Amino acid sequence: MSSSTIVQVALPTPLPRVFDYLALSPEAAVIGTRVRVPFGAQRLVGFITGLGASAPARTVLKSVLAHLDQEALLPEELWQSLHFAARYYHHSLGEVLASAVPTALKSGTALKLRGVPMFGLSSPAPLGEITDIRGTKQRALFEYLRQAERSDSELNQHLPGWRAACRALERKGLVQRWLASPLPVPKTAIQGPPLNGAQQAALDRINAVSGFSPFLLYGVTGSGKTEVYLQAAKATLARGLNVLVLVPEIGLTPQTLKRFAERLAVSQVVSHSQLSDTERAYGWQLARSGAARLVLGTRSAVFAPMQKLGLIIVDEEHDSSYKQLEGFRYHARDLALKRAQALDIPIILGSATPSFEMLKSVSEGRISCLRLETRAATQHLPEQAIVDLRTQSLDEGLAMRSIQAIRDTLLSGGQVLILRNRRGYAPQLSCHDCGHVESCRDCERPMTYHRGRGILQCHYCERTRKLPPHCPQCHSPALQALGIGTERVELALKRLFPEWPVYRVDRDSVSRKGEFEQALGRLADGKPAIMVGTQMLAKGHDLADIALVVVLGADDGLISQDFRAGERLAQLLIQVAGRAGRAARAGRVLIQSHQPEHPLLQAVISGDFDAVAALQMVERRHAELPPFAYAALLRADAVQLDALNHYLKAARKRLEENPFPGTVYGPLPAGIAKRAGRHRAQLVIMGQDRAALHRAIGPWISQLHAEKKPGNVHISLDIDPYDFS
Ligand code: ADP
Ligand code: ZN
Ligand code: ZN
Repeated sequence: MSSSTIVQVALPTPLPRVFDYLALSPEAAVIGTRVRVPFGAQRLVGFITGLGASAPARTVLKSVLAHLDQEALLPEELWQSLHFAARYYHHSLGEVLASAVPTALKSGTALKLRGVPMFGLSSPAPLGEITDIRGTKQRALFEYLRQAERSDSELNQHLPGWRAACRALERKGLVQRWLASPLPVPKTAIQGPPLNGAQQAALDRINAVSGFSPFLLYGVTGSGKTEVYLQAAKATLARGLNVLVLVPEIGLTPQTLKRFAERLAVSQVVSHSQLSDTERAYGWQLARSGAARLVLGTRSAVFAPMQKLGLIIVDEEHDSSYKQLEGFRYHARDLALKRAQALDIPIILGSATPSFEMLKSVSEGRISCLRLETRAATQHLPEQAIVDLRTQSLDEGLAMRSIQAIRDTLLSGGQVLILRNRRGYAPQLSCHDCGHVESCRDCERPMTYHRGRGILQCHYCERTRKLPPHCPQCHSPALQALGIGTERVELALKRLFPEWPVYRVDRDSVSRKGEFEQALGRLADGKPAIMVGTQMLAKGHDLADIALVVVLGADDGLISQDFRAGERLAQLLIQVAGRAGRAARAGRVLIQSHQPEHPLLQAVISGDFDAVAALQMVERRHAELPPFAYAALLRADAVQLDALNHYLKAARKRLEENPFPGTVYGPLPAGIAKRAGRHRAQLVIMGQDRAALHRAIGPWISQLHAEKKPGNVHISLDIDPYDFS
C-alpha cells in the first residue's frame, strides 16, 4: 500500500469528519478537486481536502471511483472561507462545500464551459515595435487583436491557422484568452445622474480605501444608494477588478438588473433561485473562468467563485432572505463580510433600516457608516399617520378613514398600495355553532381559507383540502371565515371601488417567474389603481408613483413572541412607506392600529429608524438578547413528543456538564410546534462571549451528530438564528 496515495474526502453527510480513500494515482490526488467515491451502498461526490490518512485505517481503504477534476474547483480564498464557514456554523465541511456549488456540479458533472472563447491583447498595445513577435502569422494576429478583441470563430474566418501563433503569443504573455459570457453586453454605458453631495461624499470615502473596509451605507428609501453602488462598482471595474452584488430574493427584479446592465457595460451573470440547474451551473462557471466581470445574485451568490474580486455590495443587508433556513444555515451577509476580509477588499452593506447587528458594529467602530439622509430625486419623505381603530367601524378590516383616504387618492388620480401580510381569504374557518376550527392534521394549526380556489390550505406544510360543506364535528352548515387575508381585502376593495382596477400581489397570485414583474408593471402607466399584497410589495422596488400606502394588521407584529418581531415590523413599515411619494407626488402612509400610542409605531411614523433602533436596542441590551449576546439553537424534530423532549433534555445535560459559558433554555416548543406530522422543539443557547460559546458547542454538536439518535429524532444546529420558528 505504500506506493498508493491516501486522500481525505469531505462528503455531503451530516457527519462532522472526513473520510479516507485511495486515490487512483498520485497525480490525481489534488486538494480541492472532486471525486466520486463509494459510501455504504451509495456513491457520493465529495472534495479532496487533504492528503495522507486522517485516521488509522481499521479496514482496507476503498478506492476512489473517479477523479472529476484536474485542478481545484474553487478559488483558494473561497475554499478557505468555506472551511471557516464550516467551523463557524459547526456544519459538516462536505455539506458546506456542496452548498457552494450548483446542483449540476455537486452531482459530479464535468466542468465544461460553453461560453465563447475570446482572445485579446493582455495589456493596452504598446506603441512601438514589439521585438518578441516572430513571423508574419504572429504579427498578423497581433495587429488584428490590436483593433479589437476577437472570438475564436472570427479568428477562424480571418486568419486560418492562427492557433499556433496564438499559443506562441500567449506564452510570451502578449495575448490572453477568456470565455465571453453569452449575455448581451451593452457596448456603451448609459450615464447616470450626477451624484448629490451626500452621495459623492460616500463614494469618495469608498474609493479612498484599499484593503478590507466594511461600509454601512445607511440611507433612507430613495436616497440614491443604488447610484452609489453603481459608481463604486464602475470605479472597481475600471481598475480591472470584478464585482459581486447580493440582492434579496424578492428584490431581484428586472429593474435592478437593467440598471446594472445599462450603466456598467461589462459581462454580467445573474444568479437566483428561479434559474434552472443548467443556467445556474453555466453562470457559476462564467464567474469561475473570469468571463463574468459582475455577478448579481441572491443568497447563494455569496459563493460565486469569482476571479479578481475587488468589491462586494450587499443591498438591503437587513433582509431576512440572506439567512438560509434549512440545511447549512448560513447568513450570506456575514459570509460576504468574511470573504471581503479574506480577500482584503472593501464591502458596502446598504439599507434604509439596518440590522441591529450592523448598527452595533458601527457603534463599536468596526464598520464605517455612510449616511444619506434625504431622498435623491424627490424632496419629501411621505407624511405618516396612525389610524386609531379603537372607535372605528371596519369593513373587512378597512377603517372608514382609510376607505375615505383611498377614495380621495383615486379621485385625485393617485395610486394606492395596501399591505396585508397574510395571504388567503381568512386565516381560519370556524364553526359558528360548535366553535370547531378546521386545522391541519399534521401541524395542528388552523388552515387558511382560500376562497377563489375553494380550498383550505395549511401555510406551514402547504397541504390543501377541499372546503368542507358543513362542520365535520356538528354538521352545522354555518362555517365562518375568521380574520382577514389579502384575498378578502381584494374582494372588499373591488366592491368598494368598482370603477378602479384592483390588483393583488402575493405568493398565490404571483408564483411563476416573471409574474411579479408583470403585476408591478400594471401600475407603470401611472393611472389610478389599487394594489393589495403581502410584504412582497414592500421590498426595494421602484414602484413608480404610489400616492397612498395603507397598512393593515400592523398590530400582529407588536404582540408576537419573537424578540425580532418589533425590528421586523419597523423594517417592513419603513420599507413599505418608502414606496410612497417616490415621484413628484407627495406620498402619504396610514397605519391602522389598535395601539396608536405604542412607542414603536410612534417611532416608525416619525420615519426615524434611529429612534426605532434606539428603543429596541435598549430592550435587547436589558434582556441580553442579540446583538448583545450570541445565540444558537439546537433544533430537533420527531414523531413522538416524548422522545423529542427526552432527547433534548439529555443533550442539554451534556452541554452543561462542563462549566458552560452561557445559558441554555429548553427544551422549548419551536415557534411552529408541529409541522408535517413531526413535533418540533429546541434548545436555546445564549452567551456573551462568542468564542467561548463556540468552543463549548463544537465538540458537543459533533458528538450529537456522530451518535445514533433514539426515536428517529432529527437535529440541526442554527448559529445566529434569525427566528425561533
Ligand atoms: P435607493 O437605492 O436608496 O432606494 P435609488 O438609487 O434607487 O435609491 O434612487 C432613487 C431614485 O432617485 C431613482 O429614481 C434614481 O434614479 C434617483 N436618483 C438617485 N440619485 C440621484 C441623483 N444624484 N440625482 C437625481 N436623481 C437621483
Ligand atoms: Zn360545528
Ligand atoms: Zn400542515
